[in-house]
Amino acid sequence: MSDRQAAPDATGHFGPYGGRFVPETLVHALEELEREYRAAKADPAFQQELAGILKHFAGRPTPILEAVRFSEAAGCRVFLKREDLLHTGAHKINNSVGQCLLTKRMGKPRVIAETGAGQHGVATASAAAKFGLECVVYMGVEDARRQRLNVERMKLLGAEVREVDSGSKTLKDAVNEAMRDWVTRVRDTHYVLGSVLGPHPFPVMVRDFHRVIGLEAREQFQAAVGKLPDLLVACVGGGSNAMGLFHAFIDDAGVRKVGVEAAGHGLASGKHAARVPEHSVGVLHGTRTLILQDAHGMIRETHSVSAGLDYPALGPEHAWMLDEKLCEYSHATDEEALHAFEKLSRLEGILPALESSHALAWVLREGHRLGKDTNVLVNLSGRGDKDVAEVLRVTGRG
Ligand SMILES: *Cc1c(COP(=O)(O)O)cnc(C)c1O
Repeated sequence: MSDRQAAPDATGHFGPYGGRFVPETLVHALEELEREYRAAKADPAFQQELAGILKHFAGRPTPILEAVRFSEAAGCRVFLKREDLLHTGAHKINNSVGQCLLTKRMGKPRVIAETGAGQHGVATASAAAKFGLECVVYMGVEDARRQRLNVERMKLLGAEVREVDSGSKTLKDAVNEAMRDWVTRVRDTHYVLGSVLGPHPFPVMVRDFHRVIGLEAREQFQAAVGKLPDLLVACVGGGSNAMGLFHAFIDDAGVRKVGVEAAGHGLASGKHAARVPEHSVGVLHGTRTLILQDAHGMIRETHSVSAGLDYPALGPEHAWMLDEKLCEYSHATDEEALHAFEKLSRLEGILPALESSHALAWVLREGHRLGKDTNVLVNLSGRGDKDVAEVLRVTGRG
């Protein structure tokens, strides 16, 4: 591993970002987690068991597909990394399975998780059932109302869903409640955090569990095309699917990397979830990073048509990669994402998640400038079945 790949440092910092901003009661739990994770990571038996579960339970490896008709529309040569084919419909299962296996290794009988749209909740409820762990998922009342089906899926999988009625009643409030739960029950409970966010060691651990995406893609692309892709594109909520793809290519300066944030109704409207353009540094949910805040340091309400990108903080490693110019960041609006959703559906026979549609939208916008000799690998982070009702609603067809 290079120095860049080995980040964060021993204190969990990626340059000025990351770290561990938590109440004292959690410091011990995080230190224990860091120790346990390090030991598991170095243990071939753990890695072998994880690889087996990823293969037989989650459905890895996922293929890469040349999207021939979409390429014509985009003006460049587009390949898709098919994380949408994974069990429960998105990349999230990579991390849920990894952390639940670690929980079992730590001898803890109970996991908790936060969820926005319900995708991370469903993935964690599935992994918890598989490993026989008790599972409680925190979800904002507002999100639970919008995502009834996922609430029922989690319950059928044996999880308890606790609806959170505070603040904006969405993801940020669900994280607050999950952290509160963890403080009171750290002895028997592990918190399965859902993205490359939160206090150290979560950003590095979640990244490592998703790193398989890029490792597979590297080999698959080389075998199919005979060289590395020119460009990687992924949507960025907290940033886990993007980091999972990018990290294996971090030392390849010739491979351009673009993370696409949600511009919602447009940056000027203020109703968006693009943290990079404002470059405002603060602390949220235990980590120091780029966040959306007002002049008084209050967290702003965010908006995106895709619930998975609708979060006010960017993963700290992404903030560092931005400063180090290891990755570029751009954004796509709701409207552009909906257009890309329709394009991929009609041209490739694949309904993409609205989150992933932001990455596809960037390719549709920039593809002709790149030209047809440019090989672009897009991380198709999830499938769009979960978004059908939302697409119908916002396009006035529902
Ligand atoms: C949750 C989710 C995302 C956003 O999370 P990241 O941590 O940024 O990857 C993106 N795509 C899908 C399909 C999701 O479910």
